[in-house]
Amino acid sequence: MNTSLPTKTCIICGRTITWRKKWERDWHNVRYCSKSCRSRGVNDTDRQLETLVLSLLNSQPAGKQFTMNDITSDFRSGLKPATPDDVMHALRRLASDGRLEFLMNGRPTSPSAAKGNCQVRVKQ
Ligand SMILES: [Zn+2]
Repeated sequence: MNTSLPTKTCIICGRTITWRKKWERDWHNVRYCSKSCRSRGVNDTDRQLETLVLSLLNSQPAGKQFTMNDITSDFRSGLKPATPDDVMHALRRLASDGRLEFLMNGRPTSPSAAKGNCQVRVKQ
């Protein structure tokens, strides 16, 4: 990744958006990484998910790592409409806000690089 280009965070899925030539004139207006994020939006369920994820993470000792499975299995009963993708998007938005961090193989990783086999923990 070329780190000299400006970046921002997609407000829907939390992925990093890197500056592109086609956005030269309206980079300040770019808020979504893709058409699907633009059409999807963030609804009440998404905001609720963020709250639930944080309370789940904060219910355990500081520094405890959670797998995606820990998190999605916890929500399967409580918040039906949420899919693993919804959960991942909520996690990325929280990571972009500096509330939590992603780890891959024990090392911190960026929200964009995090995959389904990552872990998350509350940011210290
Ligand atoms: Zn996005």
